[in-house]
Amino acid sequence: MLICIDAGHYLGTPGKRCLKSIDPRETREWVLNGRVADKVQALLEGYDCRSMRVDDVTGEREVTLYERVSAANHAGADLYLSIHHNAGINGGSGGGIVVYVCPGADEQSRRVQQAVYSRTVVRTGLWGNRANPTPEGELYVLNCTHMPAVLGEFGFMDSTTDTPIILTECYADRLAMGIVEALVEVYGLKEVEQVTYEQWMEFMSRYQRERGELAPSDWARAGLLEAQARGITDGTRPQCEATRQEVALMINAALKG
Ligand SMILES: [Zn+2]
Repeated sequence: MLICIDAGHYLGTPGKRCLKSIDPRETREWVLNGRVADKVQALLEGYDCRSMRVDDVTGEREVTLYERVSAANHAGADLYLSIHHNAGINGGSGGGIVVYVCPGADEQSRRVQQAVYSRTVVRTGLWGNRANPTPEGELYVLNCTHMPAVLGEFGFMDSTTDTPIILTECYADRLAMGIVEALVEVYGLKEVEQVTYEQWMEFMSRYQRERGELAPSDWARAGLLEAQARGITDGTRPQCEATRQEVALMINAALKG
């Protein structure tokens, strides 16, 4: 399972930014899209799937829609997920989340569309106020990809109600969580077992303890007893690995003997 993530635009895309009267810093749309894409990718690392990005993750380079779609098609991705933020309210209120599929989209795209919409509105509390929050749209990345594809517009950058919310880190976290929950639901992704360093150390010391209690192998028994008689080894833990210092002492003892 390869999930292709597309954070829309880049830092230099003209006009794609928050409305100055609401956000004096005029945060670029790519910054919002990229932040969510990063979080989605990080969360997906905990599941049995792979992910790839088709935008420039630094936001510095413009990656054309053709390049994005080609990269996803070439990699044979199983899902194309495009992340955007909306505009068009011009300082009014309302807005919300809209998730598109292309006209005549396949069943899988529609399943992802519905799941992403419902999970993200529940997670973020940002409801769509449009008549149809899960419409079809003639969008290049949806029309030209060879795999199921959805494009989400996750709140408006020029809405007095949406914009202050979508700028927050908390919103981005919840949005990413909602998106990943939707993918887990539709594709049945399983959590990968993560072993911590502490757990690994515990397993390793148990392993070494158990090895230390093993008797010598038949083929080694006689030689081991002989080496022990000569004082080259103390004969303990015959099935454990020797450290460099233990080997040095054994060589030393052998040479003296
Ligand atoms: Zn956009």
